Amino acid sequence: MQYDHILIRYGEISTKGKNRRGFIDRLKANIRRTLKSYSAIRVEADRDRMFVLLNGEDHLAISEKLKGVFGIQNFSPAIKTEPGIEEIKNAALSYMNGLTAPIKTFKVNTRRADKSFSYSTDEVNHMVGGYLLTNTEGITVNVKTPDLTVRVEIRKEAAYISGEVIQGAGGLPVGNGGKAVLMLSGGIDSPVAGYMSMKRGLELECIHFHSPPFTSERSKQKVIDLCGRLSETAGPIKLHIVPFTEIQKLIQKQIPENYTMTSTRRLMLRVADSIREKQGALAIVTGESLGQVASQTIESMHAINEVTSTPVLRPLITMDKLEIMKIAEEIDTLEISNRPYEDCCTVFTPANPKTKPKKEKVNFYESFVDFDKLIEEAVDGVETLVISPEAETKRDETLDLF
Ligand code: ATP
Ligand code: MG
Repeated sequence: MQYDHILIRYGEISTKGKNRRGFIDRLKANIRRTLKSYSAIRVEADRDRMFVLLNGEDHLAISEKLKGVFGIQNFSPAIKTEPGIEEIKNAALSYMNGLTAPIKTFKVNTRRADKSFSYSTDEVNHMVGGYLLTNTEGITVNVKTPDLTVRVEIRKEAAYISGEVIQGAGGLPVGNGGKAVLMLSGGIDSPVAGYMSMKRGLELECIHFHSPPFTSERSKQKVIDLCGRLSETAGPIKLHIVPFTEIQKLIQKQIPENYTMTSTRRLMLRVADSIREKQGALAIVTGESLGQVASQTIESMHAINEVTSTPVLRPLITMDKLEIMKIAEEIDTLEISNRPYEDCCTVFTPANPKTKPKKEKVNFYESFVDFDKLIEEAVDGVETLVISPEAETKRDETLDLF
């Protein structure tokens, strides 16, 4: 099949009124970045459609890539032709003749973006349908359940013939909804939470708490690999690795054992919030799911969340572990998350963490300890990496923030 274009239909993007331009520009940039290894292609955008000009590149490989781009409702490989009825009939026939899978029935479905076109959609359906019937063999029309719908889209500058409609990832273009930081552990949940928040248009920077020598280089590499996966959707992502050992040691020393978990979470959140502020992000995303573990009961969240008024987004809050694992599998993070590693929290997990910690109590215990200096040191000691899909990790020397 000699497709020369891919016609892309926007999702929710088309409902956003005056912000539309921003959505379209962002989607276009994201598609360009996703397809950058296909040097011949061009991307053009219209008010209600985007077009990838294939210029000889493989439409199947490009379709695979497009399936992962947020902001695309669906798309169709298409043939472009002049917007005249004869040209449309001929292009539709050559489309039919180029089909690789045999069909028995078809119908024509016309959409006119150009309302000044000389024929109505019904007329075009009939004319093109009749032409295809006359010039092919063994094929009939079935308007209810056809094997193939030949789509004719008539626009001012051109007409497009297509058949297959491929489902896109939906959502909003990554980066269109502002920036948040993702607290990324080496577990199953947080990468899924990151993916889901990107689906709603957020750009992410990741924060990982590392406690050497209790946690190894191996667990750090795991997080780098998870970030690499997320960057396939988002483009290069910053990963801030926080040295957390000193804070954890102080917690172990000063806080009663059944409250160490609560305090650890609170300190993580304070450090994350400080990095968030420096990076100009407006929210914190976590992989928490209600009731999953002691630190994720509603009482724990209440006691932990108290340390910040920054919005904490928890995309997985109502999801079961199995539902989360299913998504992790789909987005190819499950295998990485399942690798064995030492998490900075499991290393220090008390035998009996409080499932219903009291805010007043944790505040009382923490009031005897000066964490501020250690928080500052942890933030100053952050190592920032830029992770890109090519898995070519480099230190971000341009960042002199830390
Ligand atoms: P996950 O499966 O994402 O690791 P989890 O089941 O281990 O989560 P918790 O350990 O209770 O659950 O962590 C809850 C959330 O806190 C994580 O989803 C993540 O957002 C954040 N978090 C936990 N540990 C770390 C860490 N070492 N670095 C950064 N964020 C962390
Ligand atoms: Mg979890």
